[in-house]
Amino acid sequence: MIDEAATTFEAVHGGRPTGMWAAPGRVNLIGEHTDYNDGFVLPIALPHTTRVTARRREDGRLRLYSAQGDGTVTDLSLDGLTPGVVASWAGYPAGVFWALAEAGHPVGGADLFIDSDVPAGAGLSSSAALECATAAALNDLYELGLTAPELALLAQRAENAFVGVPCGAMDQMASACCTDGAALFLDTRTLEQRHVPLDLAAAGLRLLVIDTRVKHDLGDGAYAALRAGCERAAELLGLPALRDLAVADLASALDRLPGELRPLVRHVVTENRRVLETVERLDRGGTAALGPILTAGHASLRDDFRVSCAETDLAVEAAVAAGALGARMTGGGFGGSVIALVAAGDVTAVSDAVRSAFGSAGFAAPVAFTAVPSAGARRVA
Ligand code: ADP
Ligand code: MG
Repeated sequence: MIDEAATTFEAVHGGRPTGMWAAPGRVNLIGEHTDYNDGFVLPIALPHTTRVTARRREDGRLRLYSAQGDGTVTDLSLDGLTPGVVASWAGYPAGVFWALAEAGHPVGGADLFIDSDVPAGAGLSSSAALECATAAALNDLYELGLTAPELALLAQRAENAFVGVPCGAMDQMASACCTDGAALFLDTRTLEQRHVPLDLAAAGLRLLVIDTRVKHDLGDGAYAALRAGCERAAELLGLPALRDLAVADLASALDRLPGELRPLVRHVVTENRRVLETVERLDRGGTAALGPILTAGHASLRDDFRVSCAETDLAVEAAVAAGALGARMTGGGFGGSVIALVAAGDVTAVSDAVRSAFGSAGFAAPVAFTAVPSAGARRVA
């Protein structure tokens, strides 16, 4: 892989790269739309990664080329980097340079060649993979000595302030901090994290990821509106964040809120609870028992938070009908991917059932693959 990347690097930038860094995409097992409410999440890293082959430049220029880009090199001056100046995909890696420099880290120019097998725009966090691989490369090239969580927060800042996407910390924390064979139980308020072992094979299970290949454009503005709705509800309840509302106080809190905010609050509060329940079950080795929690989480996203769509609902429904132990949409919503917890022997039946249901509904064929909890960002060469 490095030889091939080094050859492309040389063709694009001339000379040899210093090294190669990789950062994964992720699926979130449970805990959706909780990260910007100071809540809990439980993602795993995918085996799919974005690789950044890189070398320092001493002239303050940033040259970016992606195998998934438009075939041209984006050439920027670090001096001129401010939010809004880079409109293309290059805003993600450029934003990481900007965030590092703005935080006072002595980062200079670089040549980057990017390649990835994380599907983009599929709710699998290709954006965080790109940011975190870039951050890992710069951390080493400029000997910044930053920890994985520090790099993740700078990557999140790049996406929030440079690219302009108001995402929470989950995607970047997952891509930077996950470990092989474990889910990352993260408290997004304190950033306290625990790696919860998840050995699907030992339990006779597989995690099927179904990319519906749908991305509804309304997602972008809707995400910001949902986030604003959650923040408004917390303010009306006199709480720092919805994380601070206990399940026991939910009913009385809902009575004090305007009707349109109630389902949002109900989703966030019950979803935080589902994360804690999932972790409890995993700690007791009850992997199969996660199924119903996943499906309940999907119902909450569909009926209360209203971020699912016909394709994700159908994938969940068809997967469960074909024998999946549980299934839910993963990621921000309005399309993207669905995960299904499936007995090892049922993988083919479940993916066939989803494909056939999509065919009958007139939807484009989904792409399904199984995933195991994989490693976070790292140097690979
Ligand atoms: P997701 O993170 O779920 O994949 P996003 O919309 O957040 O979806 O990010 C997708 C965007 O990230 C792409 O449209 C592209 O601009 C950028 N991106 C991700 N991976 C790459 C890559 N390998 N090369 C170029 N751009 C990429
Ligand atoms: Mg993203």
